[in-house]
Amino acid sequence: PKRPSPMPPATVPCQYRTGKTLGSGTYAIVKEAIHIKTGKYYACKVINKKLMEGREHMVRNEIAVLKRISSGNPNIVTLHDYFETSHNLYLCFDLCTGGELFDRICAKGNYYEADAAELLRTIFTAVAYIHASGIVHRDLKPENLLFRTPAEEADIMVADFGLSRVMEEEKLSMLTEVCGTPGYMAPEIFLKTGHSKPVDVWALGVVTYFLLAGYTPFDRDTPKAEMEAIIKGDYKFEPEEYWANVSETAKDFVRACLTIDPEQRPTAKEALEHKWLASATPHFVSSP
Ligand code: ADP
Ligand code: MG
Repeated sequence: PKRPSPMPPATVPCQYRTGKTLGSGTYAIVKEAIHIKTGKYYACKVINKKLMEGREHMVRNEIAVLKRISSGNPNIVTLHDYFETSHNLYLCFDLCTGGELFDRICAKGNYYEADAAELLRTIFTAVAYIHASGIVHRDLKPENLLFRTPAEEADIMVADFGLSRVMEEEKLSMLTEVCGTPGYMAPEIFLKTGHSKPVDVWALGVVTYFLLAGYTPFDRDTPKAEMEAIIKGDYKFEPEEYWANVSETAKDFVRACLTIDPEQRPTAKEALEHKWLASATPHFVSSP
């Protein structure tokens, strides 16, 4: 008699073969993964379930939202697939092979103002879309902004969002335990007076400063001193030699994004209307 073939599970990690590690972040390891059937490459984010004990339903909720919105803007890393084992959660994203914005800033020293404005306009457009979908990124920084390809003019992609709301508590406690840098966090996060959409605009203000100068505005010797500087909005466009070639319009844009009061800070949509971004001419050619 013919033996009934066992039912294959709908989604199992062995549909993919994992390769080299692409990076690791706050709560996950990201590995290159080949989908065996199609030979297509993805970036597979492996999250240990221990980190989200008791909040699994929240995570699944967020993943569903992520999947729905991640294909709605060309500069958001698309979530293709997810599955879980008893220990881990696996999320398969479009593979970005161009590395982190962080590494490009470090390699270049800083960005030409026109290139920075063009990058920021693309990022703000993606973030305005995320916000319109009711989601706050919460962790915008150059490590979470990736280039689609290694080309100089490659598209910039927003990665690592959606799950941050579920992970938030974890992150704040980790920040005090481990010596993580709070560099991109808005004042209201420390003051515990709210951390909604305006935190993303603040973070992008810090990214803009970083792109233009090659260093971040609130760098201090200790995380505590850094936090105090952020709360007071204590930063300067100094040393002078790093800012001599930067326009007053660009500085004004940074100032607007780094408004201490989140209510007074421009929204992502308003930031797009700022002269510095509105007049940015497309400089990069989109890669296929
Ligand atoms: P975490 O939540 O732990 O910060 P991320 O999603 O930011 O995880 O991923 C950690 C790192 O893995 C990123 O900073 C990046 O270097 C790399 N990475 C993440 N997603 C991709 C991707 N789609 N393509 C290529 N590398 C990626
Ligand atoms: Mg990250």
